[in-house]
Amino acid sequence: MDDDGAMIVVAALAIGMVLVLGIGVFLVVRDTVRKRGRWGINLQPVQCPACGTPAPVIRRPRNWRQFLWGGCTCDECGTEYDKWGQKVRGPDDEPNTAAGGGG
Ligand SMILES: [Zn+2]
Repeated sequence: MDDDGAMIVVAALAIGMVLVLGIGVFLVVRDTVRKRGRWGINLQPVQCPACGTPAPVIRRPRNWRQFLWGGCTCDECGTEYDKWGQKVRGPDDEPNTAAGGGG
């Protein structure tokens, strides 16, 4: 009956979807270009930042962050790193850990 009302609703939905898609594409492109962040796409092989063990080809997510954003946990030393090969601060990493002196 009210075609004008339906058109406005459809147009509003379309604009909203375009905005969301645009933001998503922008985030993916930005993080892919700068090679960091959780949105980018990394097609290059990565390795453990601590011991250099290559990441497994078939990734098995150990937690929700890895499931959602990529990254994996090193089988050799247990270091968790993201899809760019950057170490991720896990819950075990206390910010005020006594690192010891010297150096
Ligand atoms: Zn390692």
